This record gives sequence, structure tokens and C-alpha cells, in this order.
Amino acid sequence: MDIFGQKLGLVKNISTKLENQQAVQSAQKPEKTLEVIEELQCALEELFVAEEEIKAQNEELAIAHDQIAAERQRYQELFEFAPDGYLVTDPSGIVREHNQAAASLLNMPKSALVGKPLANYIALKDRHALRYQLNRVQELERLPEWEINICPRQSQPFAAAITIATVRDRQGKVTDLRCMIRDITARKQAEEKLQKIQVQNLQLQESAKLKSHFLAIMSHELRSPMNAIIGFSQILLRQAPPNLASNQANMVERIFSNGKHLLKLIDEILDFARIEAGRMELKLAEFNLVQLVKETVEESRSLAEQKNLVLEVELNLTNPNIVNDSDRLRQVLINLISNAIKFTGEGKVAVTVEELWSDRLAIAVKDTGIGIAEADIEHIFDEFRQANQTITRQHGGTGLGLAICDRLVRLMQGKIDVESKLGEGSTFTIEIPRRVEVGNNN
Ligand code: ADP
Repeated sequence: MDIFGQKLGLVKNISTKLENQQAVQSAQKPEKTLEVIEELQCALEELFVAEEEIKAQNEELAIAHDQIAAERQRYQELFEFAPDGYLVTDPSGIVREHNQAAASLLNMPKSALVGKPLANYIALKDRHALRYQLNRVQELERLPEWEINICPRQSQPFAAAITIATVRDRQGKVTDLRCMIRDITARKQAEEKLQKIQVQNLQLQESAKLKSHFLAIMSHELRSPMNAIIGFSQILLRQAPPNLASNQANMVERIFSNGKHLLKLIDEILDFARIEAGRMELKLAEFNLVQLVKETVEESRSLAEQKNLVLEVELNLTNPNIVNDSDRLRQVLINLISNAIKFTGEGKVAVTVEELWSDRLAIAVKDTGIGIAEADIEHIFDEFRQANQTITRQHGGTGLGLAICDRLVRLMQGKIDVESKLGEGSTFTIEIPRRVEVGNNN
């Protein structure tokens, strides 16, 4: 019983008492009447307090009621203006309520949708699936999102994602279904595009592999006869003075040097094809880097001397032992040094080796040659790229050397960089770990 009920009971008690006492009032003493009046006053005061409390409770109730109404309004607006279509249906899928987005998705005037089966707006081929899902959802809390084709009134069908959740009464019986429909046309188009790109990518990868495989085979087939041409012309040259006339010796000399040039070209193509096909593997072993750099520089010394260039080496290593593929590192160095000599008219070419932080090393090849224009620098490591075509043409080459250096240095878990200014020279620097890790080459 509430406070007001209690107090009312009290007042009723007192008034009954008073009524009873009225009958015998004349015979009673006046003090008794006073006592009753006091009791009545007291009860009235308490009644007044109770009334105040009730008023306060009523005010709180009104505030709570307003808050609930505001919340309801907020949710109604959220529901109404949500970007996705929301529908409330009965358990069989007849629309009871829906928001503006649902009406627009189904191209229906707002009021006309209520009372219609949701299935009316689903593509024929998907209606069976919808019926199945509506039956299934009775046993579940909600159905995970699935894709369906929506057929809006007098408009083109489109792909949508639909989610259904159940609303149950206290006994657990499904009273309503809440459906959310989202237009996924843009997503589907993006997925299709992505799929197409992936297929194209695979095809490209496949054809790149085929191309590399073809190049590898062709280069190999070319290498064998070239080796024979170079080998035999070398033997002929050794016997030249007594057995060959000088013009014949000249011709053999040209066969020999052109043969070597062609072989270098074939080797480069073969290497590049192998790297691109992912078939280049480093043969890692420990060796002395100082020795390797010195030997490599010495191999190029005669070339530098022919052009009156100074060829310097500066080695700053406390520990010269490193783990790498010595043949491949030598190949990179030869390429950088011979480029430096090739593109330098006068001055010098300097090779320096330094220890860097965290057990890495830097090998730099610096020249005072023609330099590379800023616009060419970003493509200098791309295959078949040559800067300054006119100058480069005079020097020959394939434009594969630096591309191979770049891929090889990356296989060595390192990187190659160039700094250059047109007319002032270039510095190519490779940075590699002291010990290349097995199986970590990419
Ligand atoms: P190539 O066999 O044509 O020399 P590379 O890949 O070794 O091929 O070099 C690509 C181009 O980069 C060269 O043609 C040249 O234009 C430029 N280049 C390479 N090294 C130097 C250098 N030290 N100085 C100036 N240009 C260079």
C-alpha cells in the first residue's frame, strides 16, 4: 500500500472513532473530544505531507515520461533518416512499419508499403531463399547478412544485403521481424572490378613468367655457340703472328671482341630473366670483402688507364669478413665501376667501403663523369632504361646492368642508391648487411 493509502486509512479510522463517540458525546467528558480532535489534526498534517510527496512523485513521473518521449522521438528519427532501409514485418514478412530509406529503395510511396508482403519486392529467383530464411529466423535471434536481388517498383533490380532479427514477447514467441536492407550495387561493382584486375594480374604474372622462361631458354641456346666462337677466335689470335696475315688477325680480333660483347649481353638477359622468374639464388659463403674489392678494382684498372682516369680505393673496415654471394657482389661492383669509367671523360673514379651502424656496410663508386639528369634518376634502375640517349648510344650497352644490380642487391637484403648532378659526376652506393641471411631474399 502507498503512503497516501496508509494515511487515508488513518483518517478513516479516526472519523469512525469520532462517529462512534458522537453517540455518547453528551455523556462523555469534553477532554476526550479534545484528544480526538488533536489526533484528527495530526492525521490531517500527515495527510498534507503525503499529498506533497505525491505531488513531487508526480513531477518526477512527468519528467521521466518526457525523457522517454524524447528518446522515442530520437530513435524514431534515427529509424526514419537512417541511410539503410529498415522494415518491421510480422513473422510472415508482411510490412508493418518502415523508414524513408526502405520506401526509396523499393521505389514506393511511404504509406503504400505497409501491409504488403516483403517478398513482393524480391527477385523471383530469390523468393524461395527468403521464405526459407523467414522460417529459419523463428528459431534464431538474427540471421547473418546475406545477398539478395531487390526488384523495386517500375525500376531496375539491384543487389542488396539483407539482415533479419526477431522481436519476441515475454513467452518467447516471435511477434515482429526487423529487416535491414542495404544497396550494395557499388560494392558489387568494386568487387567485380577487383576480381577482373586480379584475373588480369594473374594473366600478366603468368605471361611474365612465360616470357622470362622463354628468354632464359633462348639465352641459354645462344650462349653455347657464342662460347665456341669466342673460344676458337681466342685460339686463332694466339696463333696469329706466324699463321695469320695482319688483316686476318684484325678480323679475328673483331670477331673476338664482338663475340665477348654479345656474350655479355646474353648473360645480362639470362640473369635478368632468371631474377624476374624468381629463379636467381644466392650462393652464400663467408669471404674477405677487402680482397674482393681490391681484385675487382684491379680488373678494371686497364680500362681506366686507357682513358687516363685515376682509379682509387679506400677501405675503412675493421673486420673484412662478410657473408654474401661473392660472384654476384663482384658482378655488381664490376658493373658500377665499368659504368663509372664508361661515363667519365676525365678525372677519377673512387671506390670506398665503410662500416655502417647495425652491422651493415656501404660500398660507394664515385666518378667525376657526365652525371645523370634529375628526371632520369628515378628510372635509372628500371630495365632497358638509359639516360641521355645520344651520349649513351655512343657507349653501347643494353640498359640492363643497373636493373640487374638493383635486383641482386635487393636479393642481398640491401639497397642501391644514386646521387648525381649533370656534368658533375655520380655516386652509386650499395648498402648491404654484413651477413646475408639464408632464405630471406626478396
Ligand atoms: P648500360 O648497359 O646501358 O650501361 P646500365 O643499366 O648499366 O645500362 O645503365 C643505364 C644507364 O644509366 C646508362 O645507359 C647511362 O645512361 C646511365 N648511367 C649508369 N651509370 C652511370 C654513371 N656512372 N654516370 C652517368 N650515367 C650513368
